[in-house]
Formats: sequence, structure tokens, C-alpha cells
Amino acid sequence: MFKKILVANRGEIALRIQRACRELGIKAVMVYSEADKEAKYVKLAEEAVCIGPAASPLSYLNMPAIISAAEVTDAEAIHPGYGFLSENADFAERVEKSGFQFIGPTPESIRIMGDKVSAKQAMIRAGVPCVPGSEGELPDDPVQIRRVAKSVGYPVIIKAAGGGGGRGMRVVHTEAALINAVQMTKAEAGVAFGNPAVYMEKFLQNPRHIEIQILADKHKNAVYLGERDCSMQRRHQKVIEEAPAPGIPRKLIEKIGERCVAACKKIGYRGAGTFEFLYENGEFYFIEMNTRVQVEHPVTEWVTGVDIVKTQIMVAAGEKLPFTQRDIQIRGHAIECRVNAEDPFKFTPSPGRITSWHMPGGPGVRVDSHAYNNYFVPPNYDSMIGKIIVHGDTREQALARMQTALAETVIEGISTNIPLHRELMVDAKFMSGGTNIHYLEHWLSQHKR
Ligand code: ADP
Repeated sequence: MFKKILVANRGEIALRIQRACRELGIKAVMVYSEADKEAKYVKLAEEAVCIGPAASPLSYLNMPAIISAAEVTDAEAIHPGYGFLSENADFAERVEKSGFQFIGPTPESIRIMGDKVSAKQAMIRAGVPCVPGSEGELPDDPVQIRRVAKSVGYPVIIKAAGGGGGRGMRVVHTEAALINAVQMTKAEAGVAFGNPAVYMEKFLQNPRHIEIQILADKHKNAVYLGERDCSMQRRHQKVIEEAPAPGIPRKLIEKIGERCVAACKKIGYRGAGTFEFLYENGEFYFIEMNTRVQVEHPVTEWVTGVDIVKTQIMVAAGEKLPFTQRDIQIRGHAIECRVNAEDPFKFTPSPGRITSWHMPGGPGVRVDSHAYNNYFVPPNYDSMIGKIIVHGDTREQALARMQTALAETVIEGISTNIPLHRELMVDAKFMSGGTNIHYLEHWLSQHKR
């Protein structure tokens, strides 16, 4: 096992990894930008290295700074968390070339899965069902683009091959709007992701977002840890996640889970990963794979009892998965609310000093957050400042616990989306389960204020 790991991330996930290291008896070196000096995990760290100014390109995306921090502290491995460099194949390669273990899949796996076009092609070869669409990257010729759209059938969605974080997508309803939409998405993708390639999918009207968590070791063992329902989204970004997905027959989950495991074995995948699907009329359609730990991993941890972050570290160190598929049982129900520093209904970011911070507790409540009373939320990064996760024997109990947890939560000095979560947790449709990916946007348009 490693003696020392460098955590190349910030925010709640940096704290989460630090906690996993403590449990494993591993020293965690924390890196931070000048804007993150006050973060809890930096104050708690045995070792912390400032890697640059607030702007991410100069700190959390600065590969040489991160690798030299690992060198000067004698770390053996680097955990990339999520976002930032976590899905950057060049970074994984540089980490390994510098003699450190990258806690994640091989650079080749990241490269294949990081490009959504090559990921889809790999999945089709591995027998995983995909959303119908263009066979690969869209050509430049408008005549050919129109032909593809006609055969896929409107509405279609144009997606950037290098896209992520809900960006780089455009829905097209008519042929008249098609070519312009393709050109705009290409131009944006070139700027935002350094890759102008786009592809086309059928735009599904009422799907749910269902994803399968997998874990694989370096000894060809892989398991799936059930599913998560992440359909409550705004602007293609998840707001609430839960496990298991309400109302989907276990047989269907088992079938798609086994397909994912088979695909992992076929591509030699190792570490944690998530296969994301759209689910409509009893069918799963692959959209992309995330080759890292995800924000919503705690709901899976709670219903399976598996510590995903600890297991990531163990398999990176070469250990075998300590369980087989048969050991994985789903118990009860877990729900996660992402806590964002933003106006709850207008969504404008709300960084600043937290003047009062009181987090909920009691049976079945978990809070993952790096914030605390008097913490300053820097304006430079993503607005998520933590997550409230609950577990219950049933979905009803989990909902009741989340309602209580949200009622207990006090955050003052900045605005947060807690008021939005409070309303959603008593919304009749959400409470009955199985809302689709458009539900939250629709709800917001009906509840304008
Ligand atoms: P990202 O990598 O930016 O998260 P994804 O490909 O995972 O992008 O898609 C994010 C979300 O966008 C999905 O959860 C879904 O809500 C919506 N979406 C993506 N593809 C489609 C599609 N073909 N039809 C309908 N909605 C889609």
C-alpha cells in the first residue's frame, strides 16, 4: 500500500480523499491555490503545498506545479478527484512517466473514453446499446449532415466529442436550424474543449438519466455497484441524485450492469468508472463514460456499503477487489442534494464569507463539505460547496430524512440552493419517483419568481 498520496484537487472531494487516506493509514499531501488557503482540508493537512494563484490554469490545471509538488513531498501516487485534470490522458501519462501511480485508469482508457465519439464506438463494439445517431464525427458537407439528421429523425442533439459538464450541446428541431447549429457547436467546442469535432444523436424526449458505477482492479476483476438516478438536472447538470432508481426492474439493471462489467473487461479498464445512460421505455442508451470518481458516489456507497474512494486507492496500489459481484447487495435508499453557493431560483453565483454554518445530523445523514463557519467561498471555482446525503430503509424514509436534514440546515452570509431543495423534496411528482431529465427545468419555469 502507498505511504503517501498527493491529492490534486480542491473542495469537498479533496476532503473526501483526505478522509479515505486517513482510514487507510496513508499520508495525504494537499495542494491548494492562493484562493483556497482557508479550506478545511488544508488546515487539517499534515502537509500542504501551494501550487499557484487562484486561476485554475495556473494552479489546479498546472501539471508541472502538481508533479513537482509530488516530487518535493515524496508522494507515491496522485489522486485527481473529479473535474480539473481527472480525465486528462496527457496528465495521467505525465504522472506515470514521472514515476508516480495515477489513481485512475490507464491513459489509453481515458483517451478512448474522453472522446465521446470513440467512446461510443468502443461501446458499440463491446455490445453496449447507444443512443441512435451519426456513426462518428459529423462531416463538414451540409448535404451529408442533413442526410444523417433525416435518417436519425428530428429532434436531434449536436454534441461536442470533447464536451463535459453539460456544455457543448445543442438541440435541433428542424432542418432549417440544422447547419447553423452544427457550425455554432463546432466553433464553441473548438474554443472550450480544444476539439471542434461534433456528433449527432437522436434527442430523446422523456428519458431518465441512469448510470452504472463500476470498480475494476488490475487483475481482470470488475463489478458493478448498482445504479444511480440523476435525472433531476438543470442545464444538463445534476442537482439531486439517488440510488436505487425508483421503479426500474432489478432484472434490467442486472442486465445492463453485466454489459458494463463485460465492457470493462474487454477494454482492460481499471479503477472506478461510471457508464452513463439515458433510459426510456425500458431501454438503456449509452451516452458517455466518466473515468473517475463522481460527485454523486456517496449514494452508491451508502446502499452498497462499499467505500469507492478507498477501493480506488487500493486497486491503484495493485490490490485485488476485496469483493465479488455476489457480495454486492443493495440495501435501502439514498438521496443526495448538491449544495451550491448560488441564488436558489435565479442561479447567479453567490461567493463570499459564510457567517453562520450549521449542518444537519442524526440517523442516516451524511454531509460532505469542506466549508465551515466563517469560511470564505472563493469566486474562482464551481459553485458547489458540499453535499447532503441521506439514507433510509425505504425511499419514503430517505425523503423524510432529507426533508428534516434540509430543515435543520443553516447557511448564512451567502445564498445557497437549500430553499430549492426544500421545495423539491415535497414536490408530489418528485416524491412519487421516476421524473425524467426535463422535469426540473419544467418545474422551474412553472415556479418563476
Ligand atoms: P456531459 O459530459 O456534458 O455531462 P452527457 O453526454 O453526459 O454530457 O449529457 C448530459 C445530459 O444531457 C444528459 O444527462 C441528458 O440530460 C442530456 N442529454 C445528452 N444526450 C441527450 C440525448 N441524446 N437526448 C436527450 N438528452 C440528452
